[in-house]
Amino acid sequence: MSSQYTVAKFGGTSVANYPAMLRCAQIIHNDNQVRLVTVSASAGVTNHLVTLTQQKANESQRLALVEAVVAIQDAILQQLTLDTDLAKGFEQTLDEFKSLALLPALSTQQCDEMLSFGERLSSFLFTQVLRNLGVNADRFDARKVLKTDNRFGKATPDIVATAEAAQSHLIPLLERKVIVTQGFIGSDPYGQTTTLGRGGSDYSAALLAEAIKAQSIHIWTDVVGIFSTDPRLCSKATPIARLSFDEAAEMATFGAKVLHPATILPASRSGIAVFVGSSRDPQAGGTWIEREKSNLQGIRAVTQRKNQILLTLKSPEMLLASGFLARIFTILSEYNISVDLVTTSEISVAITLDNAQNSSRPELDQACLEQLSKFCHVTVENNLTLVALIGSQIQLKQHQMNLMQVLSDFNIRLICHGASKHNLCFLVEQSHSDHVVQSIHAQLLESA
Ligand code: ASP
Ligand code: MG
Repeated sequence: MSSQYTVAKFGGTSVANYPAMLRCAQIIHNDNQVRLVTVSASAGVTNHLVTLTQQKANESQRLALVEAVVAIQDAILQQLTLDTDLAKGFEQTLDEFKSLALLPALSTQQCDEMLSFGERLSSFLFTQVLRNLGVNADRFDARKVLKTDNRFGKATPDIVATAEAAQSHLIPLLERKVIVTQGFIGSDPYGQTTTLGRGGSDYSAALLAEAIKAQSIHIWTDVVGIFSTDPRLCSKATPIARLSFDEAAEMATFGAKVLHPATILPASRSGIAVFVGSSRDPQAGGTWIEREKSNLQGIRAVTQRKNQILLTLKSPEMLLASGFLARIFTILSEYNISVDLVTTSEISVAITLDNAQNSSRPELDQACLEQLSKFCHVTVENNLTLVALIGSQIQLKQHQMNLMQVLSDFNIRLICHGASKHNLCFLVEQSHSDHVVQSIHAQLLESA
């Protein structure tokens, strides 16, 4: 049975400073279904913390980074007096942060501890802003319920353990109060702090919503919903009023920056509707993501993801042979490399990898290439962009015709279509990709 609760999530720009926090607090004040609030670190803080974990910084640089983080908190604190319970926790957390920042080298576990401070600090301040508006609010440490494995930096949530912990520690509190907790952070089975990967607060909100069986998730950010393409690129891009879970998942995966790609998983698994709107302009509407209700067909959006790598693996042995693909994918999975697109011909296979995702371990990538080269000829191409058309029933004849006309203007390196009726993807040279997206948007989405 689902509850009537709504989980509200406020991103970094929404809690960047005091006026922004106040706008968010008013949203909660006006909506008494919101019982659980997930906050990000104030904008800029996590970037400073990431630099602190990178060990390139010398002592004076580290001190400057600590000061920069403290200055962001102080600017908000100038407008607030913390209640004793919050003040005590806030000071303690700040002290922990400062002492960790003094260490010249951090273990992977300590890196996650470091990254957690942004959300831990902002949640104290936001709780006070809510209290000042008369909302009966308390702060809650997300690490008590959001249980994960110990893959520091990009931990995988344990759904069952999270639901159990929420049942005993969190749900009873929601009956009486609005609970403010942190996005992005969790804890492993030993209680050590973990993080879900950059931008992971959206994912936290969805996981917690699932754990408390919420009815909806409101993601408050700095745009009025999910757009038909990046509005910075196409001035005529428009917000999409409704998307299905499948379409939204494809959009997040293929480059729409609004939501963390994993967010839709828990929501769609548990049938929780997701709203995306702007905390600056809550009346302006936004995008609702729900189970497919309408039969809206056609292309809804075009996205792009830059920095793709194309690997072409060629082997005469593949001709009529079995097991070639299995060998390739076994090696890729040994190196934890995730593949996006795949196309095959009689003696070769082409696959794309996301450079941003895989480049943190270039030495492994090299070793992986060597392994692959033992049984096939490998070519690597860089500077490519994956352009994705997202929608429903894209295979319909009419769309294909229009699409082929538009695409015929460009040099397409690879096309992938057929595995899902919600996307059609292709690779183009990075230097042309903005233009490709603009043309597609103009010809296929603006006339509709
Ligand atoms: N603060 C984290 C980040 O900047 C998580 C988030 O905001 O979603 O990546
Ligand atoms: Mg975000």
